[in-house]
Amino acid sequence: MSDSCLFCRIVAGELPSTVVYENDLVIAIRDINPVAPVHVLVLTKEHYDDIVDLGERSPEASAALIEAVASVAQIEQVAEPGFRTTFNTGVQGGQTVDHVHAHVIGRRQLSTSLG
Ligand code: AMP
Ligand code: ZN
Repeated sequence: MSDSCLFCRIVAGELPSTVVYENDLVIAIRDINPVAPVHVLVLTKEHYDDIVDLGERSPEASAALIEAVASVAQIEQVAEPGFRTTFNTGVQGGQTVDHVHAHVIGRRQLSTSLG
């Protein structure tokens, strides 16, 4: 837990959030500034800086995060007709919160461009 990390503070319950799904390792919350009707963030409860840090340090939390993406997709009913999952990473990847999180975005037609 880092006092200066926004998502650590959300995990700790110090800041409000709307929880969609939770288990021992991860929590999924609604994005405060959604870009689509469904926009959920899946966070690890432990702090990892990004997907590289997570993948290198915890296979267990990595698997839990992917399992949670699947659960969120079912809960939000976007597994069909589809949705997008992204991990923005680092400055050029557009990451603004340095605590690993998957974006789950859907319920509208998304662009085929990722640029
Ligand atoms: P990224 O730019 O990939 O690091 O994504 C960070 C996301 O966190 C953005 O989509 C923000 O809208 C979202 N966000 C920032 N603060 C909060 C908050 N307090 N609760 C929920 N989502 C947030
Ligand atoms: Zn954190």
